[in-house]
Amino acid sequence: MRWVISPTPEGPAGRARTTWLVAVAAALLCAAHSASADFSVLVFDKTAGFRHFAQISAGKTALARLAATHGFDVAFTDDENDLAAALAEVDAVVFLFTSGDILSPAREADFEQFILGGGGFVGIHSATDTEYDWPFYGELVGAYFSNHPAIQDATVHVVDAAHPSTSHLAPSFVHNEEWYNFATNPARNPGLDILLEVDESTYTGGEHGASHPVAWARTMGAGRAWYTALGHTFTSDADWQGSFFDQHVLGGIQSVIPAPEPGGASLGRSFALAILGIGRARARGANRRPRSSNG
Ligand SMILES: [Zn+2]
Repeated sequence: MRWVISPTPEGPAGRARTTWLVAVAAALLCAAHSASADFSVLVFDKTAGFRHFAQISAGKTALARLAATHGFDVAFTDDENDLAAALAEVDAVVFLFTSGDILSPAREADFEQFILGGGGFVGIHSATDTEYDWPFYGELVGAYFSNHPAIQDATVHVVDAAHPSTSHLAPSFVHNEEWYNFATNPARNPGLDILLEVDESTYTGGEHGASHPVAWARTMGAGRAWYTALGHTFTSDADWQGSFFDQHVLGGIQSVIPAPEPGGASLGRSFALAILGIGRARARGANRRPRSSNG
């Protein structure tokens, strides 16, 4: 069975809201996961600061396409209450070009439990320009944005070629990007597995010297996180499809999905009932995290 989830059109005139288009309601009666998606992802694009309008729109289209072609479910929201309600149902949450203070303290606590209990986190570009006053989030995302020079070409070096988000890349490649500088150099954070670095000798405005990470991974409790600082120059789905970024982000998402439980527990968490009434109904089947009270 396949849920068809369409991203909400992005534009300055309208605030995007959750869009859940359900293709097959009868699937709710199915307990088995054998024919359903491997895993489910919620994409969160709330912004309280700068909003990357074109990039968010492109990213939602791209992630819907990747979900359809790579066997996972995806839904989209910019509402923190929808996010909190979905945490019991999804395997990972993508912060897609988020910015500013976007979660209330109660929602932050919900999200911490989700991560520590084994949930996945993916941050894209301005996810590091988000929630500066929430220490857990700072640890999770790995660094905070500081500033950036003008968009320009630079050479990126692959540091860890074994990761699903980098294994398709040439050892070094040139990319046009808004190169983030961070408040502290992520290279000095021992909790991070650095995946990509930008070579500061190939552009102007870098502030981190010999090692300037632009993508990394980490664990937090039982949860896993992946972040890429790239993404500013991907303003259409064609940009994603025609570049390394498609597999980069797909691999990042796949890398944070919780492993199936021993003993044959279903791999994907059923997303179905949440789609019909997020926060009011729960999918049947095993919930891996203890805070999930409904089966
Ligand atoms: Zn940007």
